[in-house]
Amino acid sequence: MPALKDDAIVLRKLDYSESSQVLALFTRQHGKARVIAKGIKRSTKTRFAPALDLLDAGTTVLSVRHPRQEALAILTEWTQTRPAGGLRDSLERLYAAQYAAALTADLTEDWDPHPALYDALADLLAALSSAPATLALLVPFQRTLLAEVGLQPDLTRCVACDRPDPPAAGLHFSSHEGGLICRDCESAYYEKRGVTAEVRTALIGAGGTPRALRGAFELLDYHAAHLTGRPTMLGRAYLDLST
Ligand SMILES: [Zn+2]
Repeated sequence: MPALKDDAIVLRKLDYSESSQVLALFTRQHGKARVIAKGIKRSTKTRFAPALDLLDAGTTVLSVRHPRQEALAILTEWTQTRPAGGLRDSLERLYAAQYAAALTADLTEDWDPHPALYDALADLLAALSSAPATLALLVPFQRTLLAEVGLQPDLTRCVACDRPDPPAAGLHFSSHEGGLICRDCESAYYEKRGVTAEVRTALIGAGGTPRALRGAFELLDYHAAHLTGRPTMLGRAYLDLST
């Protein structure tokens, strides 16, 4: 069986038995992979083997029968490169990081490589470890993630009438339509939400007040929930804590 060596971040974990784990790893070169780590929780006389935890980052070797196959890959080696330490000092940081990991798991396909997204997630986790405010980091990550998987909303024009840079008054966003809807078109759409001028500015990455960033997070979270057909993991809980 071919062995793949790659950098990886633990996106999801599921304890499988007394000694093994099933994990969703996000690898840098090979995308998301579902793996079984057999005996990972079994320590020996010469080796202490703690189970892997969510958000752990490391270098791994996976044994894979065929790329893109349905079966679980087998994790044969794991060397921790970055403990998730600082993330656990604050519930806000931890929720922000877990939100990013869960959203990455939800919106990417198995074995679909996104090295730039991997780097963005690794950078986000590192930055969150010492961040005083998390929204300014998480909103750009939401945007990067949606762009990487081809689901970036169009914020440059009304997607109904093609009008460029529609005015802020009466501006809406429709997830189903994939972008902004101007005031002249919005009455024809049921699935929509209002977008204020400051939220729009924050959405296009031009910064903003905490309130604007919060609005931008909520809108991108709404879009992600619409795309996956269910509320995002921790989106609401994170917002209740975020500053
Ligand atoms: Zn329009």
